[in-house]
Amino acid sequence: MSQYDAIIVGAGPGGATAAAFMARAGLRPLLLDKDTFPRDKICGDAISGKSVDVMKRLGMIEAMVEAEGRDETIGSWGVTFSGPYGDEVAIPFTKMLDQPVAPGFVMDRVRFDNLVFAQAVEAGAEIWQNATVKGLIMEENGTSPGRVLGVEVQHEGETKHIHAPLTIGADGPYSVVLRSLGMDQLDEKHYCAGLRSYWRGVTGFHERNHVEIHFVDEAIPGYFWIFPMADGMANVGVGMLSSVIKKKDIKLKPLLQLLVDHPRFRHRFTDAEMVGKIQGWGLPLGSKPRTMHGDGWLLLGDAASLVDPFTGEGIGNAMVSGEKAAEWAGYAKSFNDYSAAHLKGYEDAVLDYLGDELKLSHAMQRLGNWKWLLNTVVAKASRSPELADAISAMFDDESQRKKLISPLFYLRVLAA
Ligand SMILES: Cc1cc2nc3c(=O)[nH]c(=O)nc-3n(C[C@H](O)[C@H](O)[C@H](O)COP(=O)(O)OP(=O)(O)OC[C@H]3O[C@@H](n4cnc5c(N)ncnc54)[C@H](O)[C@@H]3O)c2cc1C
Repeated sequence: MSQYDAIIVGAGPGGATAAAFMARAGLRPLLLDKDTFPRDKICGDAISGKSVDVMKRLGMIEAMVEAEGRDETIGSWGVTFSGPYGDEVAIPFTKMLDQPVAPGFVMDRVRFDNLVFAQAVEAGAEIWQNATVKGLIMEENGTSPGRVLGVEVQHEGETKHIHAPLTIGADGPYSVVLRSLGMDQLDEKHYCAGLRSYWRGVTGFHERNHVEIHFVDEAIPGYFWIFPMADGMANVGVGMLSSVIKKKDIKLKPLLQLLVDHPRFRHRFTDAEMVGKIQGWGLPLGSKPRTMHGDGWLLLGDAASLVDPFTGEGIGNAMVSGEKAAEWAGYAKSFNDYSAAHLKGYEDAVLDYLGDELKLSHAMQRLGNWKWLLNTVVAKASRSPELADAISAMFDDESQRKKLISPLFYLRVLAA
């Protein structure tokens, strides 16, 4: 018998969401993180509609709106794309521009992750910070590792062995849980590297705080982002597939500098200064499904390789999978069944929710290689309010979004 129903390794948005939902449902989770909150996480800091939906269910949207009032986050109401030849199109996330809560936000991860973490604290989850998990405790099963029984964790100067019927890996792209399961082989075609920098004084943002995604010749396939933040700040970065970086021997730091100095953007940085230094981190993409369950274990968020392959969005997917993991921890306890066969229901639930979207985004990512097509769509959308409207509807409605990978859609655009 363990005093915990589940051990959650990692208290990022995915792990903290799982812990909050579990504790609220009367389960006893132990949430472990090697850092002490508030802590930073390298990111573009754009918080999508999907995260907003989970925040509403978590009951933390009010905290977000209050933070907006204190100028600690900004509501973002759309996205502006630019194509390789410089055409730009502004697409609202929603037509309901008078709704009380913004459809998306941009907030530094020091603050945002701390808000999600606070939900786990408030819900009464047991939490150990400054607790580094070193590996899994596993049942020996002949030559292959068997059921996961718990974790070995370094905490308060001691090595502790903690047991629970369920262990959840929510420890990000360099997951120790994944490594201990022998599943950490990196596939560069499904992995992205990203650089983030913070700037003060960047000008020229859309009046409704659109996040900006720029497809620039020098950074394709990949994109340059400029995201407006509260308090006159901006998050500026670049991301690209690791296989392309390796094949073309691309150095991301000089590339980011080149983009900031690019004739299309440099006027916006004339009076801006970088705050802090450029930092990089990995994004495990959901273009290649990864097993997310087994005997006594689940994976979620980046550890489950759930980052959107087109947009790089991972916060929402981490929170959605955290919510589903909490639900399945409850089922496993009710039926006292922590077997892989039963926990497969978790993986099915995550893929039911995110699977189609990840496939679609993978197709969109590959379309990004077709520079002329990308440019034609952006150029035509910038001149045609109907096409911009159609793309806007695709943000609101997934069935509409499927049109984005239909050849017919592109034929219509080309013929328009
Ligand atoms: C450059 C860049 C830009 C991005 N931009 C965006 C964006 O704009 N919008 C978006 O939605 N997503 C973005 N992402 C992706 C997003 O950051 C991740 O998908 C998201 O943080 C995943 O959340 P998570 O909870 O799974 O993992 P994390 O946020 O990585 O949290 C993992 C936690 O596990 C802890 N941990 C790790 N190892 C151990 C251990 N051994 N023991 C105990 N604890 C451990 C860590 O301290 C950390 O707190 C970006 C990523 C990068 C790299």
